[in-house]
Amino acid sequence: MPELPEVETVRRGLAIALEGRKLARVQVRRPDLRVPFPPRFAEVLTGRRIVAIRRRAKYLLIELDDGAVVIAHLGMSGRMTVGDGPMPDEKPHDHVVFETEEGPWAIFNDHRRFGLMVLGHVDTLEAHPLLAGIGPEPLGNSFDAETLSAALAGKRSPIKAALLDQTVVAGLGNIYVSEALFRARIAPTREAASVAGKRAERLVPAIRDVLTEAIAAGGSTLRDYVQADGELGYFQHAFKVYDREGEVCPACGAVAIRRIVQSNRSTYFCPRCQR
Ligand code: ZN
Repeated sequence: MPELPEVETVRRGLAIALEGRKLARVQVRRPDLRVPFPPRFAEVLTGRRIVAIRRRAKYLLIELDDGAVVIAHLGMSGRMTVGDGPMPDEKPHDHVVFETEEGPWAIFNDHRRFGLMVLGHVDTLEAHPLLAGIGPEPLGNSFDAETLSAALAGKRSPIKAALLDQTVVAGLGNIYVSEALFRARIAPTREAASVAGKRAERLVPAIRDVLTEAIAAGGSTLRDYVQADGELGYFQHAFKVYDREGEVCPACGAVAIRRIVQSNRSTYFCPRCQR
């Protein structure tokens, strides 16, 4: 499943391909993904210029010159491919095709169809039901130790589960929560409310750093996409603890990484380094 760094990499790739360009042809090849497409979706977009491609949590926001905004989510298996020049042959599960007047194009492919594309408006975007109530962006200025400990105050759940709650912080998923807690030396089972003071001050930069490093790894693969019909957003990234059960902890070198299941998801951590 794409996490925030993957979605941000997709956003950057789409921006390179599509920003400032005019949609000459939009094809929607089925009535729905996880939810139905808006009525006349292709007609509404055709002829519009894309002014900006932004991101909020794991939503891509494709802003058009009439104020309409396509709110898109990649779901479990959604992929965006971009290119310039002749369109490739249609592949199974290619559901939406954006072709610009200037040449570059993008194709949304999603074999499990947990993704979605709906419409909002730039003036009311923050109040859109999909976006209202989402917590601060982890890489934004409003996310700091104070706001994080305030959001965690009173929460009896483990910190791992609390960080997956999108009202606490936006867009964090299973992989980067494990990585951030490892870096902050906080046990995933620790009660969320107890992550305050120095622990919160360690956790905020740990979250920022794991995301920033992953985005940088994705960004380094972006360069060739638009010319080479590239699929955006999936890249090799080395994790310190995620999916490394039984391997020696890279921090203390003394004990093995352990895996536990929390909220039906795997958590990886070092029982010695993380308290
Ligand atoms: Zn360790």
